[in-house]
Amino acid sequence: MITRFAPSPTGPLHLGHAYAAIYAHDMARAAGGQFLLRIEDIDQTRARPEWEQQIYDDLTWLGLTWDGPALRQSDRMDRYEQALVRLWDMGVLYPCTCNRRDILAAVAAPQEGGLILTGPDGLIYPGTCRPGTAPVGPLPRDTALRLNMKAALDHIGKKSFSFLERGAGPAGEHGEITISDDALVEAVGDVVLARRDMGTSYHLAVVVDDADQGITDVTRGADLFEATKIHVVLQSLLGLPSPTYHHHLLLRDDNGKRLAKRDDARAIAKYRAEGASPEDIRRRVGLSV
Ligand code: GLU
Ligand code: ZN
Repeated sequence: MITRFAPSPTGPLHLGHAYAAIYAHDMARAAGGQFLLRIEDIDQTRARPEWEQQIYDDLTWLGLTWDGPALRQSDRMDRYEQALVRLWDMGVLYPCTCNRRDILAAVAAPQEGGLILTGPDGLIYPGTCRPGTAPVGPLPRDTALRLNMKAALDHIGKKSFSFLERGAGPAGEHGEITISDDALVEAVGDVVLARRDMGTSYHLAVVVDDADQGITDVTRGADLFEATKIHVVLQSLLGLPSPTYHHHLLLRDDNGKRLAKRDDARAIAKYRAEGASPEDIRRRVGLSV
């Protein structure tokens, strides 16, 4: 078994991260497997070296050891580019020049007063820039690139996709999770795989990295359960194996609110400065040894 913890160095690790890291670490160690670390720093406008260092310090203080050096996404932009070129050559990508306001206007217009559909990646893209036939020429790098979901599914030629959930989705989903091609087109849609200012999206990077790191078991917050539907399609397109997924609960604060990405009040470093022990943190997140 190979698991991983994949934080973004955009702020201090808080209790929610401690839960995710300990969960992945203990699962691998209990199985005699490996626990890997990945620094998800594709957003170079927000990533900071000092936060990366803090991740190493916090994990070490928590008593967690990872196997081999951490994988840093910013060192791997050429890998994501290769994957993008492959997808482009398959004819399943297209350039998109819409901004958020354009998309909102396009989805709101025909459904005034109605529901605006959102998928795992926010608003379902209304298809404004989707071409009738696959674009030709070299991969454009001056616009965002979207996955043409319909074209992707036609390329793969499967009516349904599935993945194994050994944890639970937000509605308790467990076991073999199946999603139909129609649901992928309607409820996921044409997601962004690269931005103009960012050579890859989280979705593409996570799929390439999980495969390159040989991850057998992905453990992560249940907020990413829906995004897994995007990931299995990308794995299928790129001929990559699908790991087993273990989505876990998200820690909530005393008011029942989900811990935000940057909940500095619950930073591990703060508890540590106040004299807490690693076992206190384990007890607080409910993962005592
Ligand atoms: N980097 C993501 C986060 O900080 C984790 C993504 C994943 O585990 O797939 O929430
Ligand atoms: Zn567009």
